Amino acid sequence: MLNKILGKFSKDLGIDLGTKNTLVYTPDKGIVINEPSVVAVNIRTDEILAVGNAAKKMLGKTPGHIQAVKPMVDGVISDFEVTEKMLKYFIDKVHSEGFTLIPRPRVIIGIPLDVTEVEKKAVEDAAKSAGARQVFLVEESMAAAVGARLPVTDPTATMIVDIGGGTTEIAVISLGGVVTFKALRIAGNQMDSDIIQYIREEFNMLIGEQVAESIKIKIGSAAPLKEPMEMEVRGRDLLNGLPKAVNVNDTQIREAMGKTLGQIMENIKITLETTPPELVSDIYEHGIVLTGGGALLRGIDKEIASVTKIPVRIADDPLTCMVRGAGILLSDPKLLAKVLSPSMEEY
Ligand code: ADP
Ligand code: MG
Repeated sequence: MLNKILGKFSKDLGIDLGTKNTLVYTPDKGIVINEPSVVAVNIRTDEILAVGNAAKKMLGKTPGHIQAVKPMVDGVISDFEVTEKMLKYFIDKVHSEGFTLIPRPRVIIGIPLDVTEVEKKAVEDAAKSAGARQVFLVEESMAAAVGARLPVTDPTATMIVDIGGGTTEIAVISLGGVVTFKALRIAGNQMDSDIIQYIREEFNMLIGEQVAESIKIKIGSAAPLKEPMEMEVRGRDLLNGLPKAVNVNDTQIREAMGKTLGQIMENIKITLETTPPELVSDIYEHGIVLTGGGALLRGIDKEIASVTKIPVRIADDPLTCMVRGAGILLSDPKLLAKVLSPSMEEY
């Protein structure tokens, strides 16, 4: 197995195929793609009209025959064909920029912790039909931990909490493997839906997903703020259908997201409770590390620290941590061999 993966991966790719964002890394250039996981499809002709940023602009604004498809749901492929086309578009985009004569790339790609063999195979197949010569699957939590420069192969435990769009993954890592974990199907998207529901119930006003997300990013928080924050939100009055604007503040938004945040906190505690005590003392020493876009929610580090009594650190640039970890693995085949997803070991 080592023979096959030793050697230079220089033109090869690391891919973070997220529910919300897809990132691609090359050893030469670093992060070359960082775009939303969205594809605009003409459902009359099945033609792909736009991918990534261009497709996101069409979200919610498309006429009936154009559909914006998010092919990843809860961290796994929900629409195989569209995922494959999206990957192909991104891989071709990277390869057309400079080196067209390079052979098909080897690809390291992240997968969630609780995927089935069928779902793993789907990721591998999608990457292969999108042009990959060989595909290496690594758990996203593992890649993120590598990206955060945690000592993943040492005989010491670290905890990484990745809060993405569709999933929150809580993992305890030691000796190159995941010792205990919890994978939740709640994360940033759920917080956005919580905000939509709250605004509907409190103000009789309808807002869209993108507005909800922007409220979360602008004034959302997981713990009370030193300085209160407020913003004006525009939407549609549910009573008369007309445009309407209301002011919302950070306390209201925290309340809206309270249940979701509570579930994340609760599951971090449960994961710690099911981790052997020696490992918990290692985690206490290293602290819990947060990655994924949800790590940027104001005060989430403080809140997790206060719930667990363990120090918490936000990884540098949490949104790109996983793909940078995949990038490190591209240039360190020995480390890659140690952290490959268990079912890849026959390769
Ligand atoms: P995925 O891996 O599922 O694609 P990401 O790690 O890219 O997810 O994170 C995307 C999520 O992070 C989205 O729900 C987004 O709204 C959220 N997010 C991004 N920036 C912030 C921020 N500053 N505050 C709170 N949430 C954020
Ligand atoms: Mg992710």
